[in-house]
Amino acid sequence: MPELSSLAWGLILAALVIGILAGHFGWGKRWPGSRTKLHPDYLTGLDYLVSEQPDRALDMFLKLMDANADTIETHFALGTLYRRRGETERAIRIHQNLLAREELASEHREQAMLALAQDYLRAGLLDRAEGLFQQVCEVPRLRITALDALRGVYERQHDWQQALGVYRLLARSKSAPPRLVAAHYLCELSSQALERGDSAAARGLLRDARAETAPFPRAAVLRAEIAERAGDVALAERLIKSAVQQAPTLLQEQLPHLMRLAGSEGRDRLLQELVAHANAGDFDQLKRLVFAAIAANLADAKPLRASMQRVLAEDAILHAVWHDTSSPHFERIAAELGALFAQAEKYRCNECGFAGRSFYWHCPACHAWDSFETCAIVRLR
Ligand SMILES: [Zn+2]
Repeated sequence: MPELSSLAWGLILAALVIGILAGHFGWGKRWPGSRTKLHPDYLTGLDYLVSEQPDRALDMFLKLMDANADTIETHFALGTLYRRRGETERAIRIHQNLLAREELASEHREQAMLALAQDYLRAGLLDRAEGLFQQVCEVPRLRITALDALRGVYERQHDWQQALGVYRLLARSKSAPPRLVAAHYLCELSSQALERGDSAAARGLLRDARAETAPFPRAAVLRAEIAERAGDVALAERLIKSAVQQAPTLLQEQLPHLMRLAGSEGRDRLLQELVAHANAGDFDQLKRLVFAAIAANLADAKPLRASMQRVLAEDAILHAVWHDTSSPHFERIAAELGALFAQAEKYRCNECGFAGRSFYWHCPACHAWDSFETCAIVRLR
């Protein structure tokens, strides 16, 4: 990436210089007597470049450039680069500067509005971004881009009803993201209904979510919450178990919940079931159960003992750290692992690498859905 961005910056600066030179020689009358002499500001800009002050250099170049048809694409390219570098104030300045020009052709005006809205979104100025994207939606050739961006704005505002509305508009144009996204919006709305105490509405929304995509573990987890509130513990347990089987990542989050539902008398029965299921799968599945159990302070549970010993003995990393994982050391190792997990980041987004101790359906960093996986990142401080 650094090479790419320096190459991009190089190209942009080259384009700027060419643009300025074109302006200089093309409209030399504005700089009387300048056909043989470069404009002093241009030389100052070059001087800033040479002395590695690219921002000041760019300010100077921008001051010199006219937003005419020859240089306008350079303005857009510069604005995009600034936005991607996170320098949103500069990007906003460039696009506002473009929009302030009365002579700007309508297609360029529309493009500048879209770019400015994207700057606002990147800067977290959601209300301003929303207003501009709504205006750009009226432009047929930019409508899909603007609608999809608007969907992102509503997601960040947690306005799930509006996000779902925009999703439906995109679906009509066959430009919507996967239906899983609509199912998540419906689950968010269902959670809100549940918070209001409206279980009937919450259940209806979950039915709609399952109509979008099935199986859908998140809907099962929420349905379990409704069942639990209604006192149907057996149904809640069944639903959570099916959710965990569909999405093994959920085990770490849901194991303490399952234990609570089973109660002290049902704990061993439930653990035996989970062990049998994990043993029927691959070693990773067994490892996931063992780690979730250690994190949930269940290391001493009898039904798990054989599985724990197998994982401690066969896992290459654990073996490298503890060498002797035989039974006399078992309790100590389980306790040390438990202490490490308590401090560890247990989830990671497989889209952007964001890691943390909490599970999210919607990545707070890159806004991807269903992108979290279990991991154990222990930071040595
Ligand atoms: Zn992410």
